[in-house]
Amino acid sequence: MTDLPVTVDDILRVRPLVERFASVTPVVRAGELAVAGRGAVLLKLDSLQPTGSFKLRGAAARIGSIDDRHLRRGVITASTGNHGRAVAYVARELGIPATVCLSENVPPGKVAALERLDCTVDIAGPSQDAASERAAKVAKAAGGPTFVSIFDVDVIAGHGTCGLEIVEQVPEVATVVVPVSAGGLISGIAVAIKAHRPDVRVIGVSMDRGAAMHASVHAGHPVQLDEVETLADSLQGGIGRHNDTSFPIVRALVDDLLLVTEDEIARAMYSALADHRLVLEGAGAVGIAAVASGKVTPTSDGPTVVVCSGANAELTRVAAIASRRAM
Ligand SMILES: *Cc1c(COP(=O)(O)O)cnc(C)c1O
Repeated sequence: MTDLPVTVDDILRVRPLVERFASVTPVVRAGELAVAGRGAVLLKLDSLQPTGSFKLRGAAARIGSIDDRHLRRGVITASTGNHGRAVAYVARELGIPATVCLSENVPPGKVAALERLDCTVDIAGPSQDAASERAAKVAKAAGGPTFVSIFDVDVIAGHGTCGLEIVEQVPEVATVVVPVSAGGLISGIAVAIKAHRPDVRVIGVSMDRGAAMHASVHAGHPVQLDEVETLADSLQGGIGRHNDTSFPIVRALVDDLLLVTEDEIARAMYSALADHRLVLEGAGAVGIAAVASGKVTPTSDGPTVVVCSGANAELTRVAAIASRRAM
């Protein structure tokens, strides 16, 4: 495990940077997902972070690691929304400028949320990859801002603090279920957890429409897929053409990658509202969807912890989900 690009020492190093901005989020019991005779099912509520998603962890770790001279020039990033929001939030707290490059597919509520954080929003093309290319280009100019990439090792180490919290809060954990897009969250969590407990199963979940990491792991190399509209819009986007961070970590440490349908995601969002009075966006609910659909079965050797990664659903969508008849 020492030859992987992120180690548990990296996670421990950035932890104080993360804790300046991010919360230690609660773990709650999900009785409705329990299976008789099996370990408990628990929800790790990273949807309760100040920016509504776990992305604050990685942004705080990365920006906190920039030296003062570069920090003053500000930061730039590309994002489906939640990473940009986290970067903008940390930048505003530190009093430095931030620019966020977005694809046209990002929902208007997420754009408005970014604008409320005083950052510059740059709609940079039809896809997530186009937005990333724009951000990387601006950052390369002399005196330019620092590019905060979702694939950066400090970002992944920051996400790993979620994994440290899980082993501290649920020491007997047997299985962790994590939403997957570019794989930064699950990489950080897997490094943190497997360093202490290599026997814990780490399972990734994506939507069955355009799941780039799932396709890439099966192909053995990064694969580009078309972006398709999904309730889990925060899981859209590729894993990059030359991914040498999250991709090797996922291949080495993740035990299984599963896919869930749009209907399963909608039911999971509804169940979070109905059973926990908890707002989750589609991406944040895919772990619940995987357990509720039986694609992940809780084992009897310990609890299953389901990471709920984000809350930033459009309110009109939340209202539509809530007003469905009980499913
Ligand atoms: C970004 C995001 C994910 C996926 O994280 P990756 O590190 O890209 O795999 C999951 N859920 C939410 C809410 C997100 O914003």
